[in-house]
Amino acid sequence: MSKLPKKKQRVNSFLQSAYQKLFKHFGPQHWWPGETPFEIIVGAILTQNTNWGNVEKAIRNLKHEKVLTPQALHQISQSKLAALIKPAGYFNVKAKRLKNFIDYLFAEYDGSLAKMKREKLSTLRLKLLTINGIGPETADSILLYAFAKPTFVVDAYTKRLLYRHNIIEHDATYHDVKDLFETFFKHDSKFFNEYHALIVRLGKDYCKTKALCQLCPLNDLEYSLIRKCPDCHRALTHSSLSHSCAKK
Ligand code: SF4
Repeated sequence: MSKLPKKKQRVNSFLQSAYQKLFKHFGPQHWWPGETPFEIIVGAILTQNTNWGNVEKAIRNLKHEKVLTPQALHQISQSKLAALIKPAGYFNVKAKRLKNFIDYLFAEYDGSLAKMKREKLSTLRLKLLTINGIGPETADSILLYAFAKPTFVVDAYTKRLLYRHNIIEHDATYHDVKDLFETFFKHDSKFFNEYHALIVRLGKDYCKTKALCQLCPLNDLEYSLIRKCPDCHRALTHSSLSHSCAKK
C-alpha cells in the first residue's frame, strides 16, 4: 500500500475504513432478500425505478399465481405478466424486460439457470448486457446475488456517498466507481455482497437526499459537519471549496 500514489492510498483507506465502520454499526445485512436465484433475478429487474416494498407486492402476486419459475414465465402472456407485476410500476416495460431475460435464458441455456451460472463471470456479464432492459447495475446484481459471482454493484447510494466524501466527482461513471472497489479489494462475492448491502442501508438510513450527517457512522471519515456544502452535503476541502455543486 505504501507504494500507491497518495490519492490512491487515500481512496483505499477511505473504502477500507468505511466498510469497517458500516459493518460495526449495522452488522450483517443478509442480502439479497429472495428465496431462490430466480426470485432474485426477477427482483433485480423489478426494482428498477421503484422501492423494494412495491417489488415485494409484485413478487407476492407471481407466487400466488404460481408463476415464479422460468418455465411458467416463459409460457405466460406478456399482458398477464404485466397485470401481475403492476405494483412494481412501469409494469408494461418491466414485463417486456422480464420476457427479454426469459427468452434469452431459453434461447441460450435451455431455460436452465444452472447452465447460465456455469458461464465465466466476464462472459456472462457481457451477455446479460446485450439483453434489452438490463443495464450494468441489474447485470451486476444478478451476477452477484443470484449467481454469487464476485462483481461489485454500484448504485446511486454508492455514488452519493463517494461524491459527498470527495472520493469521486459528480460525473464519475458506473464503471469508474466499480473499478475503485474492484481495484482495492480481493474479488470475493461474500464481501462484495455485504459491502453493497451496507451502502444501501447507509443510503436509506442516513445518506439520503437530505443527509442526516449528525447521526451517521461515517461523519468522522474524511468529513466535517461544519465544512460541508449546505446544498449537496459534499465535504468542503481546499480542493473542493469551489466545487460545482451537484444540486445546482
Ligand atoms: S456523513 Fe453525511 S454525507 Fe457522509 S455518509 Fe453520512 S450522511 Fe452521507
